[in-house]
Amino acid sequence: MRIGIIGAGLGGLLAGASLIKLGHDVTIFEKLSYFGGRFTNFDKKGFGLSTGALHMIPHAEKGPLGTMLKELDTGVEIVYCKPEGYYRIDGKDYLQSELPGLFSIKDKAKILAIVASLKFGAAPDDATFREWLQKRIDNELVMQITDSFCGWGLSINADEISAREMIAITTNVNKLRGPGVPVGGCMGVTSALVRKIEEGGGKIHYKTPITKIKIEHGKATGLKTNEGNFDFDIVVSDIGPKETIKLAGPENFDQSLVSGIDKINESCGIKMSIACKKPMLGHPGILFTPQAKRIDGINEVTNADPFLAPEGMHLMMTHQRLNMGMGAKEEIELGLTDLRELFPDFDEHCEVLLVQTFKKGWPVNRSRSGESVSHQSGVDGLYFVGDGVKPSGWIETEGVAAGVKLVIDEIEK
Ligand SMILES: Cc1cc2nc3c(=O)[nH]c(=O)nc-3n(C[C@H](O)[C@H](O)[C@H](O)COP(=O)(O)OP(=O)(O)OC[C@H]3O[C@@H](n4cnc5c(N)ncnc54)[C@H](O)[C@@H]3O)c2cc1C
Repeated sequence: MRIGIIGAGLGGLLAGASLIKLGHDVTIFEKLSYFGGRFTNFDKKGFGLSTGALHMIPHAEKGPLGTMLKELDTGVEIVYCKPEGYYRIDGKDYLQSELPGLFSIKDKAKILAIVASLKFGAAPDDATFREWLQKRIDNELVMQITDSFCGWGLSINADEISAREMIAITTNVNKLRGPGVPVGGCMGVTSALVRKIEEGGGKIHYKTPITKIKIEHGKATGLKTNEGNFDFDIVVSDIGPKETIKLAGPENFDQSLVSGIDKINESCGIKMSIACKKPMLGHPGILFTPQAKRIDGINEVTNADPFLAPEGMHLMMTHQRLNMGMGAKEEIELGLTDLRELFPDFDEHCEVLLVQTFKKGWPVNRSRSGESVSHQSGVDGLYFVGDGVKPSGWIETEGVAAGVKLVIDEIEK
């Protein structure tokens, strides 16, 4: 079949490489001059900075993305983070397994019960995750730890996700573990997918925005670009359901889908990329920072792939949620204050290379976890992929890959 894909982000590239492997004729249209969307690298002073992601794959080789990259024979190598992470509390770093030891015997028992519910899947609950937790324990540090986990992994607070979705996520986290760092960072993944697409005869048109999705008699039949019109049997869109509906015309969709999509929220955030003359963390995992004013977590990916920085240097990245009630400028100032408090020798060894704010069409997640819609658009031959349509329980790029898998299975059927 002739398949047209809108967007060469991770979702579009995964869909393209998978469909080519199945023998389809694939053409991808990307409005920018480069592939990868929010999952690729660019160079600054010899450091491999990223257009979005923190160079991490949540479940390393074992999740939907790692599995798909292996099945596609991309050769992408993913370095497991050992340790997975630490939590900095009162100036000391603790492994997750050491955290219960910080609490009173009574709270420790409650925490172990909560951990068991999160590991083995508790009864579904429509409360927010914060409400769910507060019913089980009243402890400020537990809430701070939870918010830093949600902030780093999902770019939201514990009251912006349902308990149901959080339990689905933590069940997968406990089963599959992770994270991992792909060798070459984000671009190590997306460049391997582009290679597969090109080797398989697929085409990628850069600087070619789609301006219209052609719908005839309730079926997607083609795409309009500044280079002309293209006919397709199937259209896969990686630009998010909201933008896809605009390009196809809202009148072609079920109106409950259109109004549902209008209510979906992006998750927004701020990332700082920092050049370090010495390793500030000294391990490839995440440092969660529950007591910081704004920063939720930090990584230092050069402990997994030293080539993401010039020889002898390290790349550290921070992440913090946005929409905390202040403007981005004030949020960034608070983030910088955090860094100086977390690392008293910060100014001696570190230089902030870049601060990026992610919102409004270039967010951390196009839909908050648990708010996604289905990959099915309801229009014959038109499918959604990408982080606007993550299946329940899968975060970030794992959600992108799990969603692509559903679309590929359905096209094959
Ligand atoms: C700060 C930050 C940190 C993150 N950290 C991680 C992490 O460490 N690990 C992780 O797993 N995930 C992380 N993520 C999330 C991850 O980056 C995204 O889930 C993923 O990149 C989304 O890919 P996508 O294909 O859905 O969307 P995109 O990357 O946005 O791709 C969409 C593509 O469509 C193109 N496009 C848009 N409109 C048109 C049009 N009209 N015509 C043609 N092309 C068009 C865009 O230019 C873009 O290239 C992070 C994100 C951010 C912002």
